[in-house]
Amino acid sequence: MIELDGATGEGGGQILRTSLTLAMITGQPFRMTNIRANRPKPGLMRQHLVAVQGAAQVSNAVVSGAELGSTALTFSPRGIKAGEYQFAIGTAGSCTLVLQTVVLALLYADGPSTVRISGGTHNGMAPPAHFLTRAYVPLLNKMGASVDIELVRAGFYPAGGGIMQARIRPCAALRQLSLLEPGARVAGFAEAIFAGIPMDVAARELQVIGKGMGWNESQLLIRGLPGEQGPGNALMITLESENVTEVFTALGEKMVRAETVAKNVMDEARRYIASGAAVGEHLADQLMLPMALAGGGEFSADTVSQHAITNAEVIARFLPVAITFDVDRQAGRSDRHLVKVCPR
Ligand code: ATP
Repeated sequence: MIELDGATGEGGGQILRTSLTLAMITGQPFRMTNIRANRPKPGLMRQHLVAVQGAAQVSNAVVSGAELGSTALTFSPRGIKAGEYQFAIGTAGSCTLVLQTVVLALLYADGPSTVRISGGTHNGMAPPAHFLTRAYVPLLNKMGASVDIELVRAGFYPAGGGIMQARIRPCAALRQLSLLEPGARVAGFAEAIFAGIPMDVAARELQVIGKGMGWNESQLLIRGLPGEQGPGNALMITLESENVTEVFTALGEKMVRAETVAKNVMDEARRYIASGAAVGEHLADQLMLPMALAGGGEFSADTVSQHAITNAEVIARFLPVAITFDVDRQAGRSDRHLVKVCPR
């Protein structure tokens, strides 16, 4: 039984999700205490509970402590099964985080699977659906996976009601990936999706991006969704390069000006562009797990967050890998980091 302290480092939900994924894949049971100790409301929230329940279904696990608010959990998997899974978060909790928990495990199932999840699809502090479909999944597939994720219906906080669907084929072994350079830029565009709020908000966001990034009309896309999918607004900048696509997101919020939302997402995209790194902050903390499953890999990143450092520690508890973070001296840049996943 692997013993884990959920208060380590970042002390958030990712420690739990990574542990669930790796317990399923390696067959090693774990016990976790202090779940989400560093969050204002510690313990399992709906999204985390559904991740636990989903992982338990997928791996026929014996679980104790799977209750709302629980700060301790034991999870003992008994083998991954392919299937047609449906999970409902029931709140606007993030569908993408629950999907990320089970998708990698289902690569190791005995046949193809589908997963349908309802909840939030564009949440703060979580990958938005578009990030998964454009940035994360293509990299998994480059590593030999065959995963397809679709946004069926958008869902925003607090109403939720979004739907995402994934199809996963088993993959004998993930291939190692070296992602040191983004490669030449192929496309760059911004899109403002909105539902149940005035279109003017989206138009103002795009105006700021157009001016700030020097982009023309064809790179500024307004996407109005049916009003019942709202209220909600997400502003995304997508940068497609030869080797990688990155997606930066800011969510519209009550009391936050459209111009501020636009500035926030633009700052993140500009930092990424200026660094010349292949991946941004979020992809960096998410890419180490599939690389560790592949037995190795490397990438350059514009930021190494506490999330990334903590995730690396959790991964090394389950898999025989060492993950190192260095300033990318080869590129001669102090604002660019090199992350290496090596067999231990
Ligand atoms: P909590 O910490 O409250 O439990 P949580 O369950 O959402 O929240 P975290 O540990 O904070 O868990 O992990 C959030 C994950 O979402 C991280 O992998 C982070 O990189 C990712 N993420 C957050 N914002 C974005 C974004 N804009 N784009 C892509 N990924 C994001």
